[in-house]
Amino acid sequence: MSLIFSADKCTLCGACVDACPFGVLSLEGERLSIGEGCTLCGACVEVCEAEALALPEAEGPSPRPGVPLGGIWVFAEQRQGRLAPVALELLGEARRLAAELSVPVAAVLLGDRVAHLAPELFRAGADKVYLAEHPALAEFVEGPYAAALTEIAARFGPEILLAGATYVGRAFIPQVAAGLRTGLTADCTAFALDPERRLLLQTRPAFGGNIMATIITPRTYPQMATARPGVFKRLADPCPGEGEVVRVELGSLTAAGPCTFVGTVEEIRERLPLAEAEVIVAGGRGLKEAKHFRMLEDLAELLGGAVGATRAAVDAGWIPYAHQIGQTGKTVAPKLYIAVGISGAIQHLAGIQSSDFIVAINKDPEAPIFKVADIGLVGDLFEIVPALIAAIRRERE
Ligand SMILES: Cc1cc2nc3c(=O)[nH]c(=O)nc-3n(C[C@H](O)[C@H](O)[C@H](O)COP(=O)(O)OP(=O)(O)OC[C@H]3O[C@@H](n4cnc5c(N)ncnc54)[C@H](O)[C@@H]3O)c2cc1C
Repeated sequence: MSLIFSADKCTLCGACVDACPFGVLSLEGERLSIGEGCTLCGACVEVCEAEALALPEAEGPSPRPGVPLGGIWVFAEQRQGRLAPVALELLGEARRLAAELSVPVAAVLLGDRVAHLAPELFRAGADKVYLAEHPALAEFVEGPYAAALTEIAARFGPEILLAGATYVGRAFIPQVAAGLRTGLTADCTAFALDPERRLLLQTRPAFGGNIMATIITPRTYPQMATARPGVFKRLADPCPGEGEVVRVELGSLTAAGPCTFVGTVEEIRERLPLAEAEVIVAGGRGLKEAKHFRMLEDLAELLGGAVGATRAAVDAGWIPYAHQIGQTGKTVAPKLYIAVGISGAIQHLAGIQSSDFIVAINKDPEAPIFKVADIGLVGDLFEIVPALIAAIRRERE
């Protein structure tokens, strides 16, 4: 597909040339030249007052006859026999989408001796589990995992395939998309459907988070996307823990790949991981110095939670990057999020939007964080936080 240009309408004003973010348009004498690299972003169409430029009509959903009948699939990421929380979150989202399309939900479980995880996947929303057990899948190695998921998807034909944008998902899902010759949208924060054309509308931040882009995969299947952990909610009411387990014998794992699993190095984690914490106490530039994070650690410890931070606090060197929450940090979904000395910039809010209850402490009553807070405490954090800690300790005693 390429940009549609009507030479007879063009006034050679040059507005499109200036508007093109990729520099592929130029005026050559009396005519507009469209070079290689046009992404059909539409910036030129918007500024063309003479209506000499137009985008081609999106084609139908698939050049293949019929929609694949496999329904909506979720890659059930597991490590050492434990399912990644994002797999259960995505099954909740898949159930919601499946209800609109009237299709089943399936989970794909790869590993060695992992069949015991199937009931958990059924409870999280799967109707069916495609199970491939093989010694080559015991530990995550990109090649075998990509080969296995590609083979299963090619054989059973999902209409939509979702996976977590975790280290594992980011490492091998692009290979699966390439193997299936389909598109992939990474790091989605929302999904919706165009039920008429059966298109998955895949929304993700773009251009540094300044716009939200909605991307479709109109011509190929499966429609593939990854989503960050913590963005979607698990089902509030678990399903019955029963369903169909389809054991898949793989033909693609016979040849040894170029990579071999050597060993796992455990990350040293002193505290509760942010993604799993039910309570997070996060600090921002308002804390003024690194040593004041000690106060937040005390409060987090009393509440059984973890400590988070804004990018401003991380950039100041007060706390390691692992604690950063937001668009370029972690996405979290705690039951309670306490924001201390945080203004509430959009990039920070992007990481906390799934929190159940937000308490904000800020001395500026106009701070944007108060717009998303369930409780706002306007005042000096150096008075409020110690008072809170003292009150909780008194209560405990
Ligand atoms: C591409 C891009 C990606 C980004 N990614 C992220 C990201 O992942 N995460 C992130 O957090 N930011 C991110 N940012 C940065 C973001 O735009 C903000 O700059 C940052 O979140 C601000 O951090 P802050 O709230 O700690 O600081 P500030 O905005 O400076 O806010 C400090 C707040 O503390 C309050 N305060 C000061 N003293 C006190 C006191 N004594 N008592 C009570 N309140 C007090 C002030 O009123 C103020 O509201 C990103 C920016 C860009 C451009």
